[in-house]
Amino acid sequence: MKCFPILILITCFTLSLAAQKPDWCKKLPRPAYAKLERVPIANNWFEVYKIRPGVFAIYEPHQFEEVISYLIAGSNRALLVDTGMGIGNIKEVVEKLTTLPVSVLNSHTHNDHVGDNWRFNDIYGMDTAFTRANARGSKTDAQAELAPGEICGSLPKGFDSKAYSTKPFRITHWLNGGDKINLGGRTLEVIATPGHTPDAIALFDAQNRLLFTGDSFYLGPIYLYRPETDLDAYVSSMQKLAALAPHPELLLPSHNVPVADPAYLPRVVTAIQEVRQGEIKPIVTDGKHEYVFKDFSFLMR
Ligand SMILES: [Zn+2]
Repeated sequence: MKCFPILILITCFTLSLAAQKPDWCKKLPRPAYAKLERVPIANNWFEVYKIRPGVFAIYEPHQFEEVISYLIAGSNRALLVDTGMGIGNIKEVVEKLTTLPVSVLNSHTHNDHVGDNWRFNDIYGMDTAFTRANARGSKTDAQAELAPGEICGSLPKGFDSKAYSTKPFRITHWLNGGDKINLGGRTLEVIATPGHTPDAIALFDAQNRLLFTGDSFYLGPIYLYRPETDLDAYVSSMQKLAALAPHPELLLPSHNVPVADPAYLPRVVTAIQEVRQGEIKPIVTDGKHEYVFKDFSFLMR
């Protein structure tokens, strides 16, 4: 009889752990991370990896999206490409990595990439109606990120789940495709890649041959099902990236794994064309069609 309460305790403890360990998170860490250089920062929500000199991936492994933001430093200033989910405080992390003035530019303005924009004063935005609408903030998409099975482990201390929303932010500089951002000793070209969203961009550091692909390409299911997705535009954008000169030597995507081989770009072009020509049989789940290729897939309506 004495051990009975202990048994209950153990059962409860095990159950609560199980609730915080959905299937996707049992597979973490993804094998690719073993080869990356981890930067030790004291933070329970973010992990930081140094990808190249002056290029840091800021990864959020505790939420299903596994979002990756990037800090890119020049000699005069730094650019933060995306600000993550807004669940942990990314500004605190950035301040540990650089003392340079930091500007923000979003790979696109879906909620999981603009969550901490509100903490920054200097923000670039693509000159589109979609960007302007998202800068007003929203709550629905943010709340969906906390649905059962979305969180792996614990939320940061003091985080208020009920109040969680994407806070409004103010864009201070408007950009168009072809614009360049000079960080001092490093220039990034803004490549408009509409498709996933109307304001999707890739950023090309031609000198170092690094291509930040946003959500246009990453290893995993690429979301192409939302109302704002334009498939014709997506095909053109991927063709543009596959034809870049000089060829990038590394892709830095915005989800799952921060490094990918540029050889994927022409494969994505071929794959999406096969899908559109009806040559690939999809897996249908919850009304969505997933077209599966090696290491990536397209999740469509
Ligand atoms: Zn997105």
